[in-house]
Amino acid sequence: MGLIIYGNRQTPIAVDELFVRCPCCEAQNWADVMVLSNYYHIYWIPIFPFEKNANIICKKCGLKRYGIPFTPSLISNFIEVKGNFRHPWFTYLGAGIFSFIVIAIVIAANIK
Ligand SMILES: [Zn+2]
Repeated sequence: MGLIIYGNRQTPIAVDELFVRCPCCEAQNWADVMVLSNYYHIYWIPIFPFEKNANIICKKCGLKRYGIPFTPSLISNFIEVKGNFRHPWFTYLGAGIFSFIVIAIVIAANIK
């Protein structure tokens, strides 16, 4: 009763082959990278995304790393590839609904 179910969830964005520094090989190598979007939810309705993580498998040594923050320090051509890994539109659903309600209230308040 009155319990609000909320928290954060993860959804995959895309998988790609990227040039990533491997801590095991101590060199830049091609790796399979799966990027995941982390978002807040209330009653499983996405509110807004807050960060991206990557699961990385080194193609040379097979080292698997999970939940690595998806940041410029991870990938050498981060600027080029970050556009391929946008948060899915539905992770903004709650923020969209909220702004719609606010706008609706403002409009309603101005109609006399
Ligand atoms: Zn490696």
